[in-house]
Amino acid sequence: MHNQDKLSIHSKLENKAKDWEENNGYLLESASLWQGVRYARSQTSIGNKLSELARNFINTSFIENRADFEGTCHLKDICRGCDTSYRSENLLICVECDMERCGGCASLHKRNEYGEPLCRCGGILV
Ligand SMILES: [Zn+2]
Ligand SMILES: [Zn+2]
Repeated sequence: MHNQDKLSIHSKLENKAKDWEENNGYLLESASLWQGVRYARSQTSIGNKLSELARNFINTSFIENRADFEGTCHLKDICRGCDTSYRSENLLICVECDMERCGGCASLHKRNEYGEPLCRCGGILV
């Protein structure tokens, strides 16, 4: 079940990367860029590695939309576990449903076999 959850954002990124290469599709921006970058960074603990194309796609998105990305990172957001305000970069975000959690709240969540905290929807908090 966890593997399927991991595959869903994985597949989305792979599909968008393909669309970008083959049909001149959109790059990632704002929240989806943030999720993509964090997901790519979390890959060391995930069996299914992103393809060269998907990594290239995320890197290009990051270079092109970096200002937008950094703008997003410095926003404040509310942890939906304890209603405390944090800088977005200090919150963990679910790769599936965008739910945000602070480190303290995330530490109370169930973990997958790689030790990563899981959102209630089953997505990884990255
Ligand atoms: Zn919290
Ligand atoms: Zn979730």
